[in-house]
Amino acid sequence: MTSHLFSALRARMPDAGRTFIETADGEVIRYGDLVRETARLAVALVALGVQPGDRVAVQVEKSAEAILLYLATIRAGAIFLPLNTAYTLAELDYFLSDAEPSLVVCDPAKRDGIAELAARHGGVVETLGADGRGSLTDKAAAVSDEAARFTDVPRGPDDLGAILYTSGTTGRSKGAMLSHDNLLSNALTLVDYWRFTDKDVLLHALPIFHTHGLFVATNTLLAAGGAMIFLPKFDADQVMRHLPRATSMMGVPTFYVRLLQHEGLTREATAHMRLFVSGSAPLLAETHREWHARTGHAILERYGMTETNMNTSNPYDGDRVAGTVGFPLPGVELRVADQQTAAPVGQGEIGIIEVRGPNVFKGYWRNPEKTMEEFRADGFFITGDLGKIDERGYVHIVGRGKDLIISGGFNVYPKEVEEAIDDLPGVVESAVIGVPHRDFGEGVVAVVVGKAGGLVEPATIAAALSERLAKFKQPKRIYIVQELPRNTMGKVQKNILRQRFADAFQPATAS
Ligand code: AMP
Repeated sequence: MTSHLFSALRARMPDAGRTFIETADGEVIRYGDLVRETARLAVALVALGVQPGDRVAVQVEKSAEAILLYLATIRAGAIFLPLNTAYTLAELDYFLSDAEPSLVVCDPAKRDGIAELAARHGGVVETLGADGRGSLTDKAAAVSDEAARFTDVPRGPDDLGAILYTSGTTGRSKGAMLSHDNLLSNALTLVDYWRFTDKDVLLHALPIFHTHGLFVATNTLLAAGGAMIFLPKFDADQVMRHLPRATSMMGVPTFYVRLLQHEGLTREATAHMRLFVSGSAPLLAETHREWHARTGHAILERYGMTETNMNTSNPYDGDRVAGTVGFPLPGVELRVADQQTAAPVGQGEIGIIEVRGPNVFKGYWRNPEKTMEEFRADGFFITGDLGKIDERGYVHIVGRGKDLIISGGFNVYPKEVEEAIDDLPGVVESAVIGVPHRDFGEGVVAVVVGKAGGLVEPATIAAALSERLAKFKQPKRIYIVQELPRNTMGKVQKNILRQRFADAFQPATAS
């Protein structure tokens, strides 16, 4: 038996001299470096007491070394657990108590605070890089002889390779357990579906503590033997500067919105590009159209989640339809079910999206009750996303199930109202939420961002909507704001909006 994921990736690697990662400051990691350095790091992990099946929690800034640490963890038979760099010590306390990692790797500045926490939960702390205070790299240097002889700890397809805590906008984060085969099968599917080869250079501006930047981007490029240009974070100028050497980019919708505001974005500047992929949050149809008009490229939108890896994608050849997330990927079964009864709904009707396939995770870490709740008896995972399948088979996402508004007993799908508002002149974007209302249970509230310098008025919006939407769908309150609250992956944080506008109908009115 081999280390299922790493061995499979290794078998597909190109020549040792080919580039794997190039950072914005010119550091180059070649495939040969990858194999050698991950062996050294794996030996260092073992020297630090990491056993097969242990969790290695990692809260570090984005770097090539952090990616090598992920692969080394896999080689050592342990479970990689990346943590958002924005988490505070209080938040880390929860993750460490839940996951009980034997090792926590963090940035030097946070070492002291985290060391205390890690010790409380039975682990030790290390840092990456030559910071002079003891680091994994130092340990690895001392063990280079052993590293040369390192053989991967055997792992099977169902052994865990990673635990990712979901961004969950309500309730406590849960650790999604991802097996070697969950990760490998999805990477191989994406290589084929999106036609990645060893000629590809992916412009990588995503964070690496989330499934998008870590698995969708990195595993796919590894499985193709391609290269990545690693930018520390998204910055439109930097992206435009590095774009000429890239063939492809994966981004969240905000990347595309911001790039459209960059004057350098032209047909010529993107003529050499093969593929632009968007995901993690809905891409506005308008952004898709504007991008096409400006560059000649149709952004390929796909849909996935931490628990399932990627589920659907617009086609590589064929119509990439704006406002849809395309077809179920090969090997992924997808159905739409009634939220209450779980019975399948008719074609074109809205329900909860459920998926089954080798991409779907093994359950929530140490949380069998929650796992039971979110799987059907026949193995389908209940995504919590509301959607429908149109007559051509394209999947449409209409929002999170928990964002559904029930006003006066009627279902209001926020996306439908948002699309109607976004079409109006002077509107950039909107978010529609339900907040408590004495008579209706929930009242529809729209939060709208107007174009710079424009004069968009709630009354004008209300008047325009009265002709387009049934009365029960029309927002009873409309607020104009500068911008919508978003998390690092570009998702609109509706929970924050619901809090902010919780009193919209106080004292409750029947308006
Ligand atoms: P995460 O686990 O952080 O990756 O979040 C997964 C959620 O992001 C999904 O359940 C969807 O609600 C949302 N999502 C991902 N991709 C898309 C997309 N292309 N369109 C709409 N929502 C998306």
